[in-house]
Amino acid sequence: MRPVTRSLVALCGTLVLLAACEIAPVTGRSQIMLVSEAEERQMGLQAYREVLAKEPLSTNAQATALVDKVGRRIAAAAERPPAEMWRAPNYRWEFKTIDKNEPNAFCLPGGKIAVYTGLLPITRTETGLAVVISHEVAHALARHGAERMSDQMVASVGVAAASAALATTASGRSRTYLPAMMAALGAGATVGYLLPMSRAQESEADRIGLVLMALAGYDPREAVPLWERMRAASSGRGSQAEWLSTHPAPTTRIADIRAWLPEAMKYYRPRD
Ligand SMILES: [Zn+2]
Repeated sequence: MRPVTRSLVALCGTLVLLAACEIAPVTGRSQIMLVSEAEERQMGLQAYREVLAKEPLSTNAQATALVDKVGRRIAAAAERPPAEMWRAPNYRWEFKTIDKNEPNAFCLPGGKIAVYTGLLPITRTETGLAVVISHEVAHALARHGAERMSDQMVASVGVAAASAALATTASGRSRTYLPAMMAALGAGATVGYLLPMSRAQESEADRIGLVLMALAGYDPREAVPLWERMRAASSGRGSQAEWLSTHPAPTTRIADIRAWLPEAMKYYRPRD
């Protein structure tokens, strides 16, 4: 556990009255949240608009239809969680296919999804694409971006100042921390939302993603061959794509996924 994480856990224990802590879905991991959902969504929307202003949308009808179909099914499952698994986010979902030969995809806070056409040769099938989109949506459901911003706020200004900031109004907090928040969201970066998540967040997104795809009627067992294809595609490539990052190591990731499959299979009902 990193020192920052350790102090965050301590902070979570002592400042519960300030409602600064959340529990991640599925894993039950403690998270500190100094950023409101409204702020997070606003920043997600802004970052999405910036990416879409720079990148050309795909005109490939087959590709865009596939991204729309898978995206809508995952979104529908995310909005109807089994009791207590997570709060329905009530996102205003958007699905865009970007014409770029990069193996990349993201879901920003607020349900703003983008898939790059260079991903599709690796995902190959509808279910393969569902693995990646579910993983990205899981990052949003677990509020990993806001958690990273909160971590950075505490790391940069210290626990005392960050907890004092909790007592300020939402608008005051926004003004004070907006630059740090924007940086954590990767807003303005040329390739979008690619700041690497922590290893814990990656593993958590894998585990939640398996449940999510199962709820959407996609066979979670397909995650194993998908991540094997990812590993093959990423070897020797040096890609910066978030899901190709070395955290966790590909072999660990696949072993973890195998271990979590029984949990996800409880929610799997085949469709079509
Ligand atoms: Zn990820």
